[in-house]
Amino acid sequence: MMTFSTFLPLFISAAQKTINDNVDEVTELDRAIGDGDHVINLQRGLEALDTISANLSALDSSSALMKIGMTLMSTMGGASGSLFGTLFLSMAKAAKGKELDITTFPDIFAQGVESVKQRGKADIGEKTMLDTLIPVAKSMQADSANNEPLNIMLDNVVVEAIKGMESTKDLIATKGRASFLGERSKGHIDAGARTSQLMICTIVDVLNQP
Ligand code: ADP
Ligand code: MG
Repeated sequence: MMTFSTFLPLFISAAQKTINDNVDEVTELDRAIGDGDHVINLQRGLEALDTISANLSALDSSSALMKIGMTLMSTMGGASGSLFGTLFLSMAKAAKGKELDITTFPDIFAQGVESVKQRGKADIGEKTMLDTLIPVAKSMQADSANNEPLNIMLDNVVVEAIKGMESTKDLIATKGRASFLGERSKGHIDAGARTSQLMICTIVDVLNQP
């Protein structure tokens, strides 16, 4: 049976590929308003996940999410390391005793995003990864409440992720390194918003494969 955990190696290798394919662009984004290391931090984390991906697929959902969170925390570094780590650790907690599917995943993901907000003391509109993550979480929860089928939910996830990522361009950063630039942070897309969108969209592609 295809459970959530059995998809993880596919998700991880797809995420690795899309990040590797966009290294130059993401480096430029973080260089413009940060210190340029975001993509390297993320590549290190994804590499570590790739190494353990076979083990992950043998675990139950919650344990696999826990292992992902701990691995990202200990390998990535940077603000994004602790924030992505928090996302998965919190999802692990919310997923305890549950199988992950279209009915349970939206609330579990939303719980993870809530923890990222708390950890980073940030919210939507501050030019961070949350500008991608929050709209995606809200959209999944709304579609779940309306009993929308998976394909509609996934289409909306892609739309919201791209819209959220693009919204960061005209925002003034008020959190993270980019906030040191104030007004001058305007005109650049946030690196973490972009990598979050890239990974979310590629996971949707995996799920849409026949
Ligand atoms: P660092 O800023 O420590 O160099 P990274 O370059 O790996 O870390 O990650 C930067 C990204 O982290 C930003 O592009 C932004 O999306 C995200 N980020 C930074 N601070 C916060 C925060 N307080 N809340 C949410 N996301 C944040
Ligand atoms: Mg950085």
